[in-house]
Amino acid sequence: MIDDMECLELDGSRGEGGGQILRTALSLSMITGTPFAMDRIRAGRKNPGLLRQHLTAIQAAQAVCGAEVDGTFPGSRTLRFKPGTIRAGDYRHAIGSAGSCTLVLQTVLPALWFADGPSTLRITGGTHNPAAPPADFLIRAWQPLLQRMGVTVDIELLRHGFYPAGGGELLARTAPVTHWQPLQLETRGDLRRQSAIGVVSGVPAEVAKREMQRASSQLGPLDEELRVLPSSEGPGNVLMIVLEYPEVTEVLSACGERGLPAEAVADRAAGDARRYRDSGAAVGEHLADQLLLPMALAGRGCFTTHVLSSHLKTNCEVIEKFLPVSFDFAEIGRQVRVSLA
Ligand code: ATP
Repeated sequence: MIDDMECLELDGSRGEGGGQILRTALSLSMITGTPFAMDRIRAGRKNPGLLRQHLTAIQAAQAVCGAEVDGTFPGSRTLRFKPGTIRAGDYRHAIGSAGSCTLVLQTVLPALWFADGPSTLRITGGTHNPAAPPADFLIRAWQPLLQRMGVTVDIELLRHGFYPAGGGELLARTAPVTHWQPLQLETRGDLRRQSAIGVVSGVPAEVAKREMQRASSQLGPLDEELRVLPSSEGPGNVLMIVLEYPEVTEVLSACGERGLPAEAVADRAAGDARRYRDSGAAVGEHLADQLLLPMALAGRGCFTTHVLSSHLKTNCEVIEKFLPVSFDFAEIGRQVRVSLA
């Protein structure tokens, strides 16, 4: 039984009351050695409490640092987590559903930057899920910025997995960080290339072709990549728009849904891509909140974005509870500059 007195108390219903509060707390608890007690987990969601993806993230964190844990069962709304020492290793985790592999990976990977040697992390589940970063986003958008901050990391997509079947697989190789570099990302430079990746598995290729055609009618000419996967990896469909700038690559995506026309899927991804492209900001809404934790670990840095989401603000609050950092937000025209003093 973990003593509440020694725990940092966290309210899982803060902000939008989603799963990010838990994932950030797990990463930073391992890194700082601070035990935490969280109540009202995912209170803001229709299906509150711990889902499989969150349970896998907790188990993965436990495996990496030998934590003591209370409250790990499906639907649990409270969790006590007392970390031990982070150990390098070759870790494998299966979510056992289409829960997001990328979110589990983002929880555990930062801890391995503080391990005693190189590690690998292999996770099976969903790799291209709604409301989570697609694997291609981690590889094309997130990873290069981590590398710029001094992180050794190589993420590989071994097999695609979609909601609800799952079965995808990601492999990440990483090593302890020896020297953190602050991220300075105020401008992105001029657009170099824009492309669309249409992925189908067990869905006619025509669907992805229609999505890419519709996206280019909204965004202008796009280089097209059609990925037709074996139907055993599906069924699934995702459209990803990749915008490449000298300083950053962004990936804006939308997943196909049963009953949703290909054109509507394309409009979602293209709409996000257009808003980001027109804003002139260095990073989009999602990349912004996924840079906060590594930037805080580096201790300094800044970026500009165009949406100050409640997700981002809540994430900053959780980080500030674990680390001696303070985020600053400054509005500059239609952009927001997020920085760490
Ligand atoms: P829940 O709140 O139901 O637990 P969750 O655990 O999936 O959901 P959220 O708190 O909603 O967690 O966080 C989702 C994460 O996925 C955020 O970091 C967000 O930036 C990221 N994300 C969501 N959609 C995309 C997308 N299209 N591209 C990149 N990242 C995304």
